[in-house]
Amino acid sequence: MGPEIKKIGELAYAVIGPEGATNFGIVKGHGGSAILIDADIRRIDEVEEALKLTGCTEVRYLVNTHEHFDHTSANYYFEKKGIPIVASEGCVRAMEEEGEKDFARMMAPEAALRVRFPDLRMTLPQVIFRDSTTLTLPGVTLRLTYCAERGHSHSKGDTTLFLEEEETLLAGDLLYTENHPVAFFGNIPNWLVTLKSLLQSHFSRVVPGHGPAVEGENKGKEYFKKLYDYLEDFYGQVSEAKAGRKSPDEVAKHMLSGVYAALGKTRMVKRNIDQFLTGRWYL
Ligand SMILES: [Zn+2]
Repeated sequence: MGPEIKKIGELAYAVIGPEGATNFGIVKGHGGSAILIDADIRRIDEVEEALKLTGCTEVRYLVNTHEHFDHTSANYYFEKKGIPIVASEGCVRAMEEEGEKDFARMMAPEAALRVRFPDLRMTLPQVIFRDSTTLTLPGVTLRLTYCAERGHSHSKGDTTLFLEEEETLLAGDLLYTENHPVAFFGNIPNWLVTLKSLLQSHFSRVVPGHGPAVEGENKGKEYFKKLYDYLEDFYGQVSEAKAGRKSPDEVAKHMLSGVYAALGKTRMVKRNIDQFLTGRWYL
């Protein structure tokens, strides 16, 4: 089965990850030039296929929306091709400080990838911006904005991309649609602040880091609000569990029922809870 490619307006595409797996973005300029947004080495064939099918003959930049493995692990592959990799300073710092450990953990079960890419390693972006920057292609203006509140929302690198010609917002993992979010690397109170400001922003369509893309500003904002409510509720629930007033099972049951019952990636619920109860607790 080929990649699921969704056309987003006239100038962009999203490679929608199966079952809530990571989405990759492609913004296409005149003449086959392109900006690729996030790429996972485990799905490199899918990425290459999508570039081919969308007629992108020259990737000018790879952008990392944030530091997590599923968004950055193909940096190595594109660096070898001489393609500049762009990310926020927060993203790069997080990769420098915690990336190697994370990379090793994620690669542990990937023996076949090790054979295919024997010198595969974590590869840092080389084009670094602090607050915002703009990338252009013929016919394309793409504004990158660092959005991690006080340096840490979903992640420490959170960057949104805004395609000015079509008012398309690529939100990275600040937004999940139709799926449980990965919350355990995040600072939930800060993430809520970021979501609040995204709720005030203007856009015509939005591509989340995971889950289906959404057409229309109102519909897009509904999804931002849904995630806001989810995270606020989750934070209250795990705070109760942390204080011993609720069991982790009760929290899990709550997060898997009612308005959340239809969400995908249900395995994330237990991981989110366990990590908040036993691991680092970000305040
Ligand atoms: Zn992700």
